[in-house]
Amino acid sequence: MKKIQMVDLQGQYAKIKEDVNNSIEQVLSTSAYINGPLVHEFQKNLEKYLDVKHVIPCANGTDALQIAMMGLGLEQGDEVITADFTFAATVEVIALLKLTPVLVDVDAKNFNIDIDALKKAITPKTKAIVPVHLFGQVANMDAIMEIAKEHNLYVIEDNAQAIGANYTFKNGKKQKAGTIGNVGTTSFFPSKNLGCYGDGGAIFTNDDKLAHTIRGIVNHGMYTRYYHDVVGVNSRLDSIQAGVLKAKLPNLNEYCNARRNAARFYNNAFAENSNIITPTAKSNATNHCNQICDVCDCHVFHQYTLQITNGKRDALHKHLLDKGIPNAIYYPVALHAQKAYTDKRYNESDFPVTNQLIETVISLPMHTELENEQLEFITKTIINFVG
Ligand SMILES: *Cc1c(COP(=O)(O)O)cnc(C)c1O
Repeated sequence: MKKIQMVDLQGQYAKIKEDVNNSIEQVLSTSAYINGPLVHEFQKNLEKYLDVKHVIPCANGTDALQIAMMGLGLEQGDEVITADFTFAATVEVIALLKLTPVLVDVDAKNFNIDIDALKKAITPKTKAIVPVHLFGQVANMDAIMEIAKEHNLYVIEDNAQAIGANYTFKNGKKQKAGTIGNVGTTSFFPSKNLGCYGDGGAIFTNDDKLAHTIRGIVNHGMYTRYYHDVVGVNSRLDSIQAGVLKAKLPNLNEYCNARRNAARFYNNAFAENSNIITPTAKSNATNHCNQICDVCDCHVFHQYTLQITNGKRDALHKHLLDKGIPNAIYYPVALHAQKAYTDKRYNESDFPVTNQLIETVISLPMHTELENEQLEFITKTIINFVG
């Protein structure tokens, strides 16, 4: 059996080596390292794939969030609601821009922002909601868009973990994650579902005016060269990374399927175990099934995350490492409890689900190259231990 890895970038590269190398050589042969033709080509290809009018590439997923918020003209004191259970980048940029982060609890069924908690957090100062499509599963966008419309709020989708996922609305309409709100953002960090070989990110929108504003912001606030109309940043996707992404994008659907297949194997293996809660991939809007089928492509499994309910999570974490099975706790601390983001406004009783998840979650190896033999070993080892 091959050594098990949390993410297998080497194995994936081996299969697309020629395409990736050709792209990189193309950049090297032209020396167009910044804003070269491959950046534009990748942008166009991604617009087509996502069926969105504008993709604006940038330097990383954190910048993408920051630039999206700058583009919407959010100002000091504006309240921005996001989930308590996520990677810190989301709340970090809210705080950096001197906006007021408002963290709310999540839903234990899908790890995404809890709709009732979201509704309760809205005040006259609320300006935007940032749903994070955590672990690759799209949040309840039917409800979120309805709430946003009712209260006149912007929706910024943090789609760093769910590129390629489809969301099916109640009325049957399908749309790609990240293209539903006013603006969506993503990260091309190497381990993300569409990763480059360095840092990268992008912003998506169907709003022509917002796209224009954002294109200036990523480039020092310039709309005409050397005329700075607004305060901007320097945030670029370099041509070599764009080349890697252009070579990988045609494989994204296949990558999503490979992840879903691994998730299905895991879910089937743990189905009978009463101490393990497996992730569901049920769309909030549809009732297709509780399992991971090809109809419900609302989940692209950036992470495969279990909840261990018999108190053995930490012991399992160590046991798996001893057996050579990498695994991780995403996330070990709730954002409202992080030193940088504590706030007197928060009560522990506001976060029952997040506080429970940080004690029970464990993420298993998840990538495009997992083999059945490895999956069998992982699942057997877990079932033997958890009982
Ligand atoms: C990875 C990630 C980011 C940040 O992306 P970078 O490219 O690392 O800056 C933001 N939000 C979420 C949910 C992420 O997973």
